[in-house]
Amino acid sequence: MPTPSETNKRTQPTPPIAFGGGVIRSRWKVAAPSDEEGVGLGSDAGVIALLRDLAAVCPTSTEHLTLAEHARDWWPLAMRWALQSQVPQLPVVVASPRNTEEVQRVVRICAAHDVPLTVTAGRSGVSGASIPLFGGVVLDINDLHGVVSVDHQSGVVEVMAGTFGPDLEAEVARHSLTVGHFPQSFDISTVGGWVACLGAGQFSTRYGKIDEMVVGLEVVLADGTIIRTGGAPAAAHGPDLSSLFIGSEGTLGIITRVWLRAHDLAPTRRKAAYFFPTFSAGVRAMREAIRADATPAVLRLYDAVESQRSHGGDGRNSTLIVLDDGDREIVDATLAVVERCARTHGAVDAPQERVDHWLAHRNDTSGLQALTHKGFVIDTMEVAAPWSKMDQVYGEVCAAVSAVGGARSVSAHVSHSYLDGACIYFTFVGQISSRDINDETTTEHQDLYLALWDAAQRAALHAGGNLAHHHGVGLNRGRFMREALGDAFDVLVRMKQALDPNDLLNPGKLGLPTARGEMAFPPSPNGMAR
Ligand SMILES: Cc1cc2nc3c(=O)[nH]c(=O)nc-3n(C[C@H](O)[C@H](O)[C@H](O)COP(=O)(O)OP(=O)(O)OC[C@H]3O[C@@H](n4cnc5c(N)ncnc54)[C@H](O)[C@@H]3O)c2cc1C
Repeated sequence: MPTPSETNKRTQPTPPIAFGGGVIRSRWKVAAPSDEEGVGLGSDAGVIALLRDLAAVCPTSTEHLTLAEHARDWWPLAMRWALQSQVPQLPVVVASPRNTEEVQRVVRICAAHDVPLTVTAGRSGVSGASIPLFGGVVLDINDLHGVVSVDHQSGVVEVMAGTFGPDLEAEVARHSLTVGHFPQSFDISTVGGWVACLGAGQFSTRYGKIDEMVVGLEVVLADGTIIRTGGAPAAAHGPDLSSLFIGSEGTLGIITRVWLRAHDLAPTRRKAAYFFPTFSAGVRAMREAIRADATPAVLRLYDAVESQRSHGGDGRNSTLIVLDDGDREIVDATLAVVERCARTHGAVDAPQERVDHWLAHRNDTSGLQALTHKGFVIDTMEVAAPWSKMDQVYGEVCAAVSAVGGARSVSAHVSHSYLDGACIYFTFVGQISSRDINDETTTEHQDLYLALWDAAQRAALHAGGNLAHHHGVGLNRGRFMREALGDAFDVLVRMKQALDPNDLLNPGKLGLPTARGEMAFPPSPNGMAR
């Protein structure tokens, strides 16, 4: 019988930006712990033994460009460094297991050598989550690929974790199904990455975030144990163990296989678009529609800046884009409720072509690369807030970012809605005086990047927003974890200690303490890692 990877199409990771010229090197120098017995990576003998053991299990690579590609993701700061031919931290080796048992063996080898192991998948994360902070082994999950089975009657799809979005949807479409998870990074990210980062697709207001789609997981733990969680439509046998790993960003276990809920392909699609006099009026209309249980797949409100930039706004009004998929009666009713709520808050019709334009261009990232090449400081920050705090979060984040010296623009849209609130997604751009992207004599770029993030994230938390809605924590947001989670953060620390006592899996992420070395980011006041 053919394996899943033989029967399914293969997408590969997309590099975020081309490297600058010359040899690619580690930006951060992490001291390896010394070890005279040849265990760990403190000696050549240790490295040789590790490489030998891994090569006996699965394909491995120490080719320099392969190491470099596995040392970065789409974190905007790392994209800037890539132009200077730098990655944050090179791993020693990339291992590419082809099935769960090989993953188990790789984990056990890393444990025996006491070498950190970081999983990489699509490498489309925007927070540095898959960067191998302390070098060691990168476990590339992409060869765990393909849809294994489809239970059409129940609408449950069993899929290997390294499967990319287009390959998953192409396969389930053959069964007249859709999982309905369409992040902007759909083409460049994997099922396991979606689960590990607790992602959200652009159609989430109808289909939910990834956690609502997960039926069960197969996970390899840090000691090599293979477990399965979930498996039923609902359960009441203690806390939900799947949720331990959903959003754990590779720090608690390696997700090898996922069972996802799938929907029947929708027979009807309808669209609408409105202009609102203010952003706040649009938010009120969205809230009323959602509170009336009208949940169109797409319900996105752009503020005046973004509306003018991309959605036909006049510089003062905000644009609401609506799209729904489903049975005709439900879609008609949903759009009727949205229209009623929109009109109540002063909306006028916008051309429906605005929705088509959004659909056609929604995954285009060329602006990010272009601005990075021009030396701008750019990033996005998505947070969730209750409806009662949306205006404050919007106002306080925009004000805080604008007050940072060097900030050039800040804008936002509301992208995912829930009964009690929504995700608000900010984009900020800054400009430094040094336009030379190869100028390494100044830390101006990183300093402004940190200042913009500190201002934006702290304003969001202060105004009643949370730390993150779907981009995760990774490396970039680790410094905010304790203030965002309070004493509950200690529960996460203890979970990590219980499941991974030797801090093998993706050390230093999610803001978790690590004894593997000094954290290179954010830079310490003495300038380390700059
Ligand atoms: C242009 C762009 C748009 C984006 N839009 C969205 C969006 O709309 N919605 C959204 O949710 N996200 C979005 N993202 C962020 C990113 O695509 C998601 O976080 C995605 O889920 C990451 O998946 P990946 O396969 O690329 O994982 P990677 O980036 O390779 O890894 C991310 C983290 O997950 C861990 N991980 C990956 N696979 C596994 C596994 N099998 N087991 C355990 N840990 C694992 C890694 O160790 C790492 O910590 C966007 C990113 C970009 C660049």
